[in-house]
Amino acid sequence: MPADIAQAIDDAARTIRGSHYVVALVGAGLSAESGIPTFRGPEGLWTKHGEPDLRDYDRFQEDPAKWWEMRISRASQFPELVEALNTAIPNEGHFALKDMEDEGVLRHIITQNIDNLHQIAGSRAITEIHGNRTKLRCIECSSRWPMDEFPMDELPPHCPECGGIVKGDTVMFGEPIPRDALNECIEQTRQCDCMLLVGTSAVVYPAAGFPMEVKQMGGTLIEVNPNETPLTQYVDVVLRAPAGEALPRVVERIRGDSA
Ligand code: NAD
Ligand code: ZN
Repeated sequence: MPADIAQAIDDAARTIRGSHYVVALVGAGLSAESGIPTFRGPEGLWTKHGEPDLRDYDRFQEDPAKWWEMRISRASQFPELVEALNTAIPNEGHFALKDMEDEGVLRHIITQNIDNLHQIAGSRAITEIHGNRTKLRCIECSSRWPMDEFPMDELPPHCPECGGIVKGDTVMFGEPIPRDALNECIEQTRQCDCMLLVGTSAVVYPAAGFPMEVKQMGGTLIEVNPNETPLTQYVDVVLRAPAGEALPRVVERIRGDSA
């Protein structure tokens, strides 16, 4: 392990231990080592194949039945992403975040990932800002259901609570972040005095704004990412390594310090 990474791991562990309320802000990079490609970053799908259609949500609203038919027929702009999502399992980085929660040093995860891998790894305090691919959601009242428990006897399906149209829980391009998830993020950020930025390029709002708020309130930022991001310049501890390698070592150090 290079000396600067060993030093950063020590610094990260000490900073986390010395903070009152640590929140992790997680992006697609955490799941890269589970074989799920990211959109951005050097190996990202958009970097390789170009940007996607940003009118997704408009199209859904124009014709929800057609959107559902396409979804059921499994048409996708990124088949390699869907295939990877279907087979992925959590990696050491997911388990390290779970361990940090068990140790009482990580209070909450705000994740931009939709892959359900935090839950499979056993993390509990999670806000999914872009939804969860294994769930459905009513666009009117935001009720959510596991996909395999929802009766699909009409397209589009309707909410049993309010009659609103039901869509996949995953937030589409052009779709607002569900209010309840956004409020939870705002509340978590307000309490946070140390934000752990894991595998996120932090350019997508509103998530990109949370670290800046922590910083403005005098908190600290730790970045775990093999690549530089627009936030790097504001970060207090930079761990320039893949999350699946770096995070377990941070947990080791945290446990060592408390032994
Ligand atoms: P992003 O903007 O957060 O960028 C990914 C970041 O991960 C980059 O900065 C890259 O340098 C970093 N990275 C790559 N490998 C890493 C590793 N091993 N460890 C740590 N960091 C690593 O995310 P995006 O790819 O632009 O995706 C945009 C949105 O699309 C996401 O916010 C999410 O909603 C959705 N998405 C989700 C998944 C998923 O659920 N796994 C995957 C792709 C995209
Ligand atoms: Zn409803």
